[in-house]
Amino acid sequence: MQIPFNKPYLSGKETHYISEAVLSGKISGDGIFTKKCHQFFEQKYGFKKCLLTTSCTDALEMCAILLDIKEGDEIIAPSYTFVSTVNAFVLRGAKIIFIDSETYTPNIDTEAIEELITPKTKAIIAVHYAGIACDMDKIMILAEKYNLYVVEDAAQAIDSFYKDKPLGSIGHLSAFSFHETKNIIAGEGGMLVINDEKFIKRAEIIREKGTNRSAFFRGEVDKYGWLDIGSSFLPSDIIAAFLYAQLENLNTIQLRREEIWKNYYNDLQILEQKKKLFLPIIPEYATNNAHIFYILCKDLEERTQLVQFLKEKGIMAVFHYLSLHKSSFYQSKYNGKNLPQSDYYTDCLLRLPFYYELTKEQQDFIIKNIFEFYGL
Ligand SMILES: *Cc1c(COP(=O)(O)O)cnc(C)c1O
Repeated sequence: MQIPFNKPYLSGKETHYISEAVLSGKISGDGIFTKKCHQFFEQKYGFKKCLLTTSCTDALEMCAILLDIKEGDEIIAPSYTFVSTVNAFVLRGAKIIFIDSETYTPNIDTEAIEELITPKTKAIIAVHYAGIACDMDKIMILAEKYNLYVVEDAAQAIDSFYKDKPLGSIGHLSAFSFHETKNIIAGEGGMLVINDEKFIKRAEIIREKGTNRSAFFRGEVDKYGWLDIGSSFLPSDIIAAFLYAQLENLNTIQLRREEIWKNYYNDLQILEQKKKLFLPIIPEYATNNAHIFYILCKDLEERTQLVQFLKEKGIMAVFHYLSLHKSSFYQSKYNGKNLPQSDYYTDCLLRLPFYYELTKEQQDFIIKNIFEFYGL
């Protein structure tokens, strides 16, 4: 049996909608399907304004431009995250103030934020790891107290909630990903969500190469020109067509993923009881959108052995981020403070195969082999 780590799922109408987009004669950005996707998100989750982008990385770069991040500004962000979370701000000259993960989840330790705030701090970036919410109330209270912006890196957080609020709706700005490894996919794709109205107009301009082309297409101005910095952040309508087919099946996809997550959790609990490994903890304020299933091994050595053991059986389990404060790019710019929890997740976290079409038999096979590895 060969079990990959991920397998993109086609929910049915992707190619149908793509040909519809192609045959409509308008395949550049902001066509019919892009509008349908924007509407879907604005209606379902009450996001004030959605703009599809070519990736979550691009949406984050738009955030950095919108917040006027300049040389010397400080950004508080986790070390245990994907490069783009912080690279987007480094591109504008920001200094990243890395913060540790909390004890029970890889999310940022909200208790450690306040002491890192200085007069130069501009924003806090909240990454909802595995689609599990950060403690947003604590973050928003600090942001208000010190007049800071909050950006949610909601790349993994579609259809997940914090105290009944959809993730992506809480910070001033949020970024989602539709990369093929996420729950809802478009190959490469992303979305900027704007919850603070004052950013809407400028976001449209930045996304259209610094021009007011969006207002021109709506007939609000009679010609369009260069108004600001920007880039080409909008995706072709072909991408949006693919995405729309996925969105129509969001509930089905989520239900199946939740089932897979629970299977892993229930079956592996015995190993946790026997203190062989630890399982994810979902705080009471968060829902679980079943984006990732991870286990926590005793140490790096044991995890490396388990990865190898599973690989020999044809099972691809993969670790995740390497602490960014220790990366070859950033370590020389870093102040040297230890971030032990970030290092713990770097060394011990292991993600198990997780995709819509993973069968019960395959899952049983994976679980059986993990038991075997631990001698049970
Ligand atoms: C996937 C991911 C990204 C990047 O998304 P792209 O759409 O590939 O640019 C950024 N941040 C986090 C936390 C992610 O998981």
